[in-house]
Amino acid sequence: MYQAPLPPEYAALTDEQAFERIQNAKRTLGERLVILGHHYQRDEVIKHADFTGDSYKLAQNAAATKQAEFIVFCGVHFMAESADILTPPRQKVILPNLAAGCSMADMANHFQVRSCWKQLSEVTDTSQIVPVTYINSAANLKAFVGEHGGTVCTSTNAPQALEWAFKKGSKVLFFPDQHLGRNTGIKMGYDHERDMVLWDPFKPLGGNTPERIREATFILWKGHCSVHGRFKLEQVMNARRDHPGVNILVHPEVPMDVADASDFMGSTEYIINTIEGAKPGTKWAVATEINLVSRLAHNNSDKEVFCLDPQICPCSTMYRIHPSFLCWVLEELVAGRVMNHVVVPDEVRAPALKALEQMLALGPTKQTLAVD
Ligand code: SF4
Repeated sequence: MYQAPLPPEYAALTDEQAFERIQNAKRTLGERLVILGHHYQRDEVIKHADFTGDSYKLAQNAAATKQAEFIVFCGVHFMAESADILTPPRQKVILPNLAAGCSMADMANHFQVRSCWKQLSEVTDTSQIVPVTYINSAANLKAFVGEHGGTVCTSTNAPQALEWAFKKGSKVLFFPDQHLGRNTGIKMGYDHERDMVLWDPFKPLGGNTPERIREATFILWKGHCSVHGRFKLEQVMNARRDHPGVNILVHPEVPMDVADASDFMGSTEYIINTIEGAKPGTKWAVATEINLVSRLAHNNSDKEVFCLDPQICPCSTMYRIHPSFLCWVLEELVAGRVMNHVVVPDEVRAPALKALEQMLALGPTKQTLAVD
């Protein structure tokens, strides 16, 4: 998405000035405004959020936010789209910087997924395939899933989404994150070589033979997160060598060998709850976004908490929500102007809502993904 440059007045704000002006605008807007903040946002942004959470929790917050006229979403574009779908048109969802996208979500587009489905229909019975999209996807892919009897999932409820899907069909087309699909499937007892194929959208039949497609239970889209995909097995081994007794806690978007070598795996909320509930004196190497890891380390000083990747791995697109952008959209609202309003077209909204409501109906997962 294109984002026009900030007016020079905002680009020149100091952190202190931005903080003061954001707080003033919040006071002026009062209950007309709710700010949602994803855990990967920087501290200078997250301190202004009324609610913080991962994608699943923020989708719940958006759906439950009934009074606010404006929902300012400090996250990335697909999250703002989901919030718009889950709220009535009288509530306006605003993304402070339209350039805050998600590199993983961009790895699957509507044309590619429709082409994939058509190719699958030529070699197998698509009535037995249930499409499951990670919430990190464009609204028109959620609509595709809604139109084809599938569901949206998040890292919080991926196991439940897959269990639900396998009650409806014998195969799952999972996009766009191969790692979440593979790691969750393995925890459910599936074998990655026997039961799973990878779909490369740039190759005929995804780079597979018709026989492998017919044999496979999981068709995993070849997409990944540019943050979590950076974690390496070598980093796990180094952490165990350098920090005896350390617990390795990873997000399920990490590659399979890192997940296999970890001690615990789960969503962002699971990671937070695990660290907060850990005994004082314990050590934790965490494989997720650095803003969250730094906050966890700061808030849990009775434990040793550090990032598994010593090179540090921020989500560069989340980082585009700078306090100056937040200040700009809020002061425009005070002036009666709605900037960066994210609106999902009506023809996409209804089927995408069906898939998102299915996701919320599944609820958060009851089981942890603790590695045995
Ligand atoms: S952390 Fe990864 S999946 Fe999440 S918004 Fe950033 S690029 Fe996308």
